[in-house]
Amino acid sequence: MDIIKDFLLQLTFMVIPIFIYFTFITERIKSGKNRNVIMSILWGISIFLCMSFPVSIGQNAHLDLRIIPLLFGTLYGGFWPGVFLTALIILFRLYFGISIGFYNTILVLLLSLPVILYFQKSFANSKKDKRGKIAVGLSFYYCFIGLTIFGILREFSIDYLKVQIIHLIFVLVVTWFFTMLNEMIREIHQLRSEVQDSEKLRVISELTSVFAHEIRNPMQVTRGFLQLLNDPDLPNEKKEYIQISIEELDRANGIINDFLSFGKPSIYNNEKIEVGYQLERVINIIQSYTINYKIEIKADILYNCWTYANPQKLNQSLINILKNAIESMPNGGIVWITCTSTDDEYIKIMIKDQGIGMTKKEIDRLGYPFYSLKEKGTGLGMMVSFQIIHSFKGKIKVNSEKGIGTEFIILLPQIT
Ligand code: ADP
Ligand code: MG
Repeated sequence: MDIIKDFLLQLTFMVIPIFIYFTFITERIKSGKNRNVIMSILWGISIFLCMSFPVSIGQNAHLDLRIIPLLFGTLYGGFWPGVFLTALIILFRLYFGISIGFYNTILVLLLSLPVILYFQKSFANSKKDKRGKIAVGLSFYYCFIGLTIFGILREFSIDYLKVQIIHLIFVLVVTWFFTMLNEMIREIHQLRSEVQDSEKLRVISELTSVFAHEIRNPMQVTRGFLQLLNDPDLPNEKKEYIQISIEELDRANGIINDFLSFGKPSIYNNEKIEVGYQLERVINIIQSYTINYKIEIKADILYNCWTYANPQKLNQSLINILKNAIESMPNGGIVWITCTSTDDEYIKIMIKDQGIGMTKKEIDRLGYPFYSLKEKGTGLGMMVSFQIIHSFKGKIKVNSEKGIGTEFIILLPQIT
């Protein structure tokens, strides 16, 4: 019975960091770096507790679940949390004295950490089920290495083997369970923040469609009178003031236009359209925009791909993306546009530039209202484009590398 009690206690040490993280930290701490630091400390405490209250089997055998905090800390946190937690285990083990067990611990960790780190990237890019499999695989590897090294350093005994097998099964089950738990809570949180975002956007779109029209009319009137004031006899200085006023009015008008196009998708009727033909039109429109930039557009379009969408809106979202691609290359370059069809019934439009590129952080911020790094940017283009593509049940993916270029991949559901 004591063994079960001890195992349950070990389980509690796993629950605490996960619970604290999702209850107190995800909402309050937005910076990924700070979260990582706090999470490493929490997993560190969990390791400390696991090792302080191990499951005692017989006289000499102590088992604990330290691999799980180490595994989760490294898989979710990356290199430094992994190194930190490993060092913590070694230091804490040192405190119990240098014995064969100590060397055993060090050897196992040195053989496990690189493997965990090696799989960290593919873990980060995987979906829930695959993550579970990777985590369980790594736990198995850790236990297996531990068992082998122990056998080499000491001698195998049937009793010890039995204990190890119980331990192995327990660790695997617990790893699977906690990976799933972790992933499930994450999904719920993500869903919640998506709902909050879409609520914000709904409010913006309603407010803007009401105000935009009202503001635009007086602005047009002002612009007209400013043009009338622009008398040839005026001193140059005053002419310049008028010119600036008109430019600024135009800029404000541009912002309002962007906002208006962000109206509710339901107003616009969708129809069956040919994506290749629309792309061709978009390229024609955008050609005029490229004159000031030394831009070459290379297109490779597969025709006869149909989707269900509103052509004006689709064109607008493509133009926004193309405009950004062109603006990202102030010294000129090539923009590639391709349109193909995928095996899983999507039309894939790729827009690729050789521009300034974006960091991962910048990509994550794409699509938020007013996020712009340009002096005269509105930070609305991407928001509108993302919204439009999603309203057609499409997807947008962005790959970018700072200084190399950016690739937008738009997937639209194909119909026949
Ligand atoms: P704006 O173009 O008015 O700045 P957008 O919403 O169109 O607003 O774009 C937001 C920001 O995203 C831009 O300011 C730019 O920093 C970044 N961005 C978008 N597309 C690209 C691209 N192809 N290359 C580099 N940066 C880009
Ligand atoms: Mg833009």
